[in-house]
Amino acid sequence: MRKKIVAGNWKMNTNLQEGIELAKAVAAKSVETPENVGLIVAAPFTHLCAVAEAVKGSKVEVSAQNCADHEKGAYTGEVSVGMLTSVGCQWTILGHSERRQYYGETDEKLVEKVKLALGAGLGVILCVGENLDEREAGKHFEVVTSQIENVLFQFTAEDMAKIVVAYEPVWAIGTGKTATAEQAEEIHACIRKVLAGKFGETVAEDTTILYGGSCKPSNAKELFAQKDIDGGLIGGAALKADDFIAIAQSY
Ligand code: PEP
Repeated sequence: MRKKIVAGNWKMNTNLQEGIELAKAVAAKSVETPENVGLIVAAPFTHLCAVAEAVKGSKVEVSAQNCADHEKGAYTGEVSVGMLTSVGCQWTILGHSERRQYYGETDEKLVEKVKLALGAGLGVILCVGENLDEREAGKHFEVVTSQIENVLFQFTAEDMAKIVVAYEPVWAIGTGKTATAEQAEEIHACIRKVLAGKFGETVAEDTTILYGGSCKPSNAKELFAQKDIDGGLIGGAALKADDFIAIAQSY
């Protein structure tokens, strides 16, 4: 039975004190969410150690938003997977569209990052999704399929147990424009089919696939009711503990 997850991507928001406060509020309210829904907060690197401490004893798990594509060494400004695990981080988001768009994150680089993250024992939330031009050209299935093939097909069925996929149509991120439940569901079903073709039905059925893109308390219920949508990757609404928890309560 695949796990339901609601993960908050704080992006480059909150200073340390605000981050700790937010993490503590999420941890305190996490008892009000359904038992079968996992909660993850993806805080900025600088906050991870303190956020891990703040959520200790609750069901909330901690994620980074990225990691380096090398294990260690002369890579000024980078943060390695070993550094992440050493501060109590359990997950990392990889391939977010903002990193693909602004920081030259390629599928090739992502393969290296996923390898390192899994090797260090981190869970991976791999983001995929088409941009507006690709959606308007009717290429969304093709784009998402190739992102999945380029990255995840380099891994094994066993590795897939530690990988969550997040479908995030770029045109819906931070825009207030949400994919309709039908639009999201058809891509989620396509992702599951592509995974089944490579790894078999069982792995595909067990893989958690999140929806991300202007998900909020008012639309989460309809999205999460879809057969192949197993939760959400939440940006803006994750910055308010009440909204984040309300989204998790949509199950
Ligand atoms: C995101 O960036 O992962 C995201 C889903 O953002 P938002 O919810 O703000 O659209």
